[in-house]
Amino acid sequence: MSRASERFALALHGGAGAKPGEDYASVEAHLAELANAGEAMLRDGRTSLDVVEHMVCEMEVSGLYVAGKGSAPNTSGDVELDASIMDGASRDAGAVAAIRDVVSPVAVARGVMERSSSVMLAGAGANAFAANEGFETINDAADYYILPVGVSADDIAVTDMVHGTVGAVALDIDGNLAAATSTGGVLGKPAGRVGDTPIIGVGTWANQDIAISCTGTGEHFIRAGGALTAANRFKLAGDTLEQALWAMLDDVESLGGDGGAIAVSSSGEIAMLYNSDGMKRAAVSDDMATMTAVFEPCR
Ligand code: ASP
Repeated sequence: MSRASERFALALHGGAGAKPGEDYASVEAHLAELANAGEAMLRDGRTSLDVVEHMVCEMEVSGLYVAGKGSAPNTSGDVELDASIMDGASRDAGAVAAIRDVVSPVAVARGVMERSSSVMLAGAGANAFAANEGFETINDAADYYILPVGVSADDIAVTDMVHGTVGAVALDIDGNLAAATSTGGVLGKPAGRVGDTPIIGVGTWANQDIAISCTGTGEHFIRAGGALTAANRFKLAGDTLEQALWAMLDDVESLGGDGGAIAVSSSGEIAMLYNSDGMKRAAVSDDMATMTAVFEPCR
């Protein structure tokens, strides 16, 4: 029996490190293509968990973002990746931190969620898990990784770190929410640095009310409490979705950071907000055609 008339919503981000003056047409086209594919999956009754994993995986392998293939090396010359995923209905969650050479960190994060007793695996342990579980790895890091759109090799050495994580949040037609986030971290990061992205409740959160994926200067998101603070404001303090996200983002800003977040609620409301220069983003729902944007003001 078709459930296609029921409510669904999907939002994607390609990072809040968008630089004014850069041309993001190919990124917006990719985000639109993904949102359309995600819409088809959701109309077809696929779970929000499957959809957010697929969306983030596609962004990881595209090379268009600072995640997966588009990630840049840290100051020791190694590419270390962070990712997380959360199922709102069960509050099952999985994450990997500082993992190397896997094609899809978010797929490994889902593997950690479903096939291990842990929520997060880091470093060599995360790689051992990925190898044991048969997740696809790259053959040659020197050949595989490319710098993302709008970033030159010189930028890797900058102390003023820029960023471009990817994330997805979705509400499926069964009313379940999920969120996923993946990153190569901030450019110019030191070896072993882990940001907010793989931390459940900071870079990623989903429960039965709300799903959130963050992007920005991870250290400030961690110190601000991140996604769960927004989720609690939404549920407990009576904030609207936008008010809840702004409260978190304003706190990030007060600590000296910037970034953005996407969220979807159980009623299908979508918010995509940022206090950086721009955030690559797209959304679609049962009552809204696919939209994309990068720089338009959101407050
Ligand atoms: N939040 C990510 C990190 O700090 C970076 C980003 O969002 O671009 O690793």
